[in-house]
Amino acid sequence: MFKGILIEKDDAGYRAAVRDIDDAQLPTGDVTVRVSHSTLNYKDALAITGKGPVVRKFPMVPGIDLVGTVESSTHPDHRPGDAVLLNGWGVGEVHWGGLAQKARLHGDWLIPLPAAIAPLQAMAIGTAGYTAMLCVLALEKHGVKPANGEILVTGAAGGVGSVAIAILAKLGYTVVAATGRPQDADYLRQLGAAEVLDRAQFTSPGKPLGKERWAGAVDVVGSHVLANVCATTQYRGVVTACGLAGGMDLPATVAPFILRGVTLAGIDSVMCPRAERLQAWQRLGTDLDMDKLGTIGHEVGLAEAIPLASRLLNGEVRGRVVVDVHR
Ligand code: NDP
Repeated sequence: MFKGILIEKDDAGYRAAVRDIDDAQLPTGDVTVRVSHSTLNYKDALAITGKGPVVRKFPMVPGIDLVGTVESSTHPDHRPGDAVLLNGWGVGEVHWGGLAQKARLHGDWLIPLPAAIAPLQAMAIGTAGYTAMLCVLALEKHGVKPANGEILVTGAAGGVGSVAIAILAKLGYTVVAATGRPQDADYLRQLGAAEVLDRAQFTSPGKPLGKERWAGAVDVVGSHVLANVCATTQYRGVVTACGLAGGMDLPATVAPFILRGVTLAGIDSVMCPRAERLQAWQRLGTDLDMDKLGTIGHEVGLAEAIPLASRLLNGEVRGRVVVDVHR
């Protein structure tokens, strides 16, 4: 038996609770992992609260991230005792995930824990931080250099935003943070933001084009915020879009794209090919100041993760939440 969060949906309703789970209930897979830590991402919060259609099979163990040690394996790449890491691939959505003490997974989904990153650090980074790195890689791929100008990060005090600021600042970019939490301005400056803006200036319907400012952007908010970011991006600038914390819609015009050659680069971490994941994690090992993870991450136990999910969706949780599944 092992402990895990189980989400159930039946005539009694939608609910998530910590349960004792029998090993025999684990799904099929060729690698069994003793999980040490998982995380609470935006998507996990949607799954736990039922506020978004994340879970597509019940009962479900949520948790799109996990780190742990291989207990048994018939996969050629993984041996008992190996430290492994997983992000996405539908885990916590259609396949039991990381918010439990044990997981059975497909070995192709697992990557070795990079030598430069400790298990706890890997979860302080988690899918949010790995997605932030995918955004940075996309900016680089499209030729955005520190000398080109300022990079805007929206949803700055959240998980993706916090890690994006830390990476971009370390790489020498001038980072501007947009947040709805002015009280967290010192936190954002500590991570490396040169300027902190009130997100209110981006949240209302704007003009098709505004004054050109951003050489690049990392947007986690979507909706009017993304539209306004595109409208104020410099000629040939690049906007990476990875989130919908402010809404799924995109009330924009094509003006920034056809008149200023702005690139809108979509970022998906879930099905991202293995080679790019390995590159992202390798770059996290070199281009993220691990000391900053102490400021970004905070740790909770399995049971605490459940009430925290609603608070995270309300934008009340700063940085990243690491879940010690043995606490
Ligand atoms: P967090 O909840 O940690 O952060 C989201 C931040 O967005 C909040 O902290 C807040 O920042 C801001 N925000 C929240 N609500 C609103 C709103 N109504 N209007 C404007 N800003 C808002 O989530 P994550 O950082 O983990 O994830 C951010 C988004 O990215 C989510 O939508 C998530 O689903 C998505 N995501 C996508 C991935 C992909 O593969 N494409 C992978 C990982 C995440 P502040 O308080 O600073 O304003």
